[in-house]
Amino acid sequence: MSGVYRFKIGTFECMAVSDGTHRYAPPIFPPPDTFLFANAPRERLEQVLRGHNLQPQQWVEWISPYICVMVNIGKHLVLVDTGADGLGPDTGRLLQNLQAVGIVPEDIDTVIMTHGHPDHIGGNTNAEGVPAFPNARYVMWQDEWDFWTSGEAERKLDEHVKEVLMEFARKNLPPIRDRLDLIAQETDIVSGIRAIAAPGHTPGHMGLAISSGSDVLLCISDAVLHPIHVEQPEWCAVVDFAPEQVVSTRRRLLNRAAAEKTLVLAFHFPFPGLGHVVQKGEGWQWQPI
Ligand SMILES: [Zn+2]
Repeated sequence: MSGVYRFKIGTFECMAVSDGTHRYAPPIFPPPDTFLFANAPRERLEQVLRGHNLQPQQWVEWISPYICVMVNIGKHLVLVDTGADGLGPDTGRLLQNLQAVGIVPEDIDTVIMTHGHPDHIGGNTNAEGVPAFPNARYVMWQDEWDFWTSGEAERKLDEHVKEVLMEFARKNLPPIRDRLDLIAQETDIVSGIRAIAAPGHTPGHMGLAISSGSDVLLCISDAVLHPIHVEQPEWCAVVDFAPEQVVSTRRRLLNRAAAEKTLVLAFHFPFPGLGHVVQKGEGWQWQPI
């Protein structure tokens, strides 16, 4: 499988770029059904899983893709999320996949981090701990930066996930401090790429609306982790920081995607993570491209 999928949004040249995949399974993580749908009523969950050809007792691992986005808007080369270099044996492929299409880290002038989890900031720095994109300004939501760098994350995160999350935050956030732009409201990061407040999965989780002409790509990052979340927006994952906020953020983003018929990119969906959200009954349904 090629790690790069090219597409266009108006005049913008875009690419979904794989950073690889990661395996979520016991003993490190709960089984996938519990991990992804922690608050789902059991009977209904098993029914929905079967509808997706997943046998509840036999679904023992979730192999999740990690999908970053490159946008060439002409004046700027923008990267959304930096992958999970060092998290597992099959992660950290972002730079080699970019190199395969002729992009080197020096070319990128803007790096947007949707949030501070390891799979989204793991490539911020290289093995020496210095910024991997030497000419880029890095952009993050203010609440997100504060959460990870003020001691709040240490105080509030569950013990069993804290260690790995903090390890990635400590390695990948302080070194970009002097090339960082923090945003606290919905604003154009560069012309055509607008930040959308999408809190819940983490305190300052951010979505993006990338638009050129009448074309729009909504990057919803981890507002949903699995296509079943599109159909069952009330079901939250163990790693969702504020479940109630996740549900309202999801509803707002999914509603917008369906109403405006935008293209959508979800970071953890099957590669290239692109599709449309269509209204179905009370909820929505994911239609991959
Ligand atoms: Zn993620």
